[in-house]
Amino acid sequence: MNEFICGLSSLGITLSFVQLEQFETYYRELVDYNSRVNLTAITEYKDVQVKHFLDSVSLVLAGIKGDEKILDVGSGAGFPGLPLKILFPDIQLGLLEATQKKARFLSEITAKLGLTGVEIISQRAEDAAQNPLYRQKYTLVTSRAVADMATLAELTLPFCALGGRVIAPKKSDIEEEMDRANTAVKKMGGRVFEVIKIALPGLEDGRKLVVLEKISNTPALYPRRAGMPAKTPLI
Ligand code: SAM
Repeated sequence: MNEFICGLSSLGITLSFVQLEQFETYYRELVDYNSRVNLTAITEYKDVQVKHFLDSVSLVLAGIKGDEKILDVGSGAGFPGLPLKILFPDIQLGLLEATQKKARFLSEITAKLGLTGVEIISQRAEDAAQNPLYRQKYTLVTSRAVADMATLAELTLPFCALGGRVIAPKKSDIEEEMDRANTAVKKMGGRVFEVIKIALPGLEDGRKLVVLEKISNTPALYPRRAGMPAKTPLI
C-alpha cells in the first residue's frame, strides 16, 4: 500500500495495522467480485490505492468529524463512503446504491471488514429521500461520479439535516457546471459553501471538492420522481 501510505502522509494521516489490513482486504475482495460482477474499471493495485482509496479519503480536506452521520449516494463499490468509514470507525454510515448487485457487494464487504454502524440502502435516491427514515437525517452527504451538480443537488441535499453539508468530488473545470447548478442548489435549501482544490500525489489532475451547505428545509415536492432529476435538471 505504498502509494496510498505516501498520499496519506501528505494529508497528515497514519493508519493503524488493522486499518491497513482492512484496505488490503477491501482491494482483494473488490478485484475478486469484479471478475464476476462489473463494479469498477479501476483494478490495478496502484490505481485502486490512488484513484479509489486516496481519492475517497481526500474528502477529509473539507473537514470531516469522527462522529458524523454520513450518507454516500450512488456508492457503487463503496466510494467514497467505505474508505471514510475505515478511517473513522465511529461514524454512522449509509451506503445508498440503486443497483442490487453492487448493493450485495457492499453488504458482503462490510461484513468481511468487520464494520459496524453501516446501513446498505438498495434504493434510488429519489425514493429514499422521501422516506422519513432518511430525509434530512444526515450531517454529511457524499457522492462521487453520480451526476452533474444540478442533478446531484436534487439527489443529495434532501438527505442533509439543517446545517449539514454535501461534499461532491469533481474533476476538471466545473465553473459552468456550478453556474448551471445554482437554481437546483437554492431550490433544495442549500448554498455553495466552498470549492476546495485537491493536489495529492497521483491526483494532480485538477480535482476539487464541492461543498454545499443546507440552510433551509427542502420543500416536500423534492426530489421529483425517479429519473426526473437527471432527465430535466432544475437549471
Ligand atoms: N460513487 C462510486 C464511485 O465513485 O466509484 C460509484 C460511481 S458510479 C459511476 C455511479 C453509481 O451511482 C452507480 O453505481 C449507480 O448505480 C448509482 N446511481 C446512479 N443514480 C442513482 C440514483 N438515482 N440513486 C441511487 N444510486 C444511483
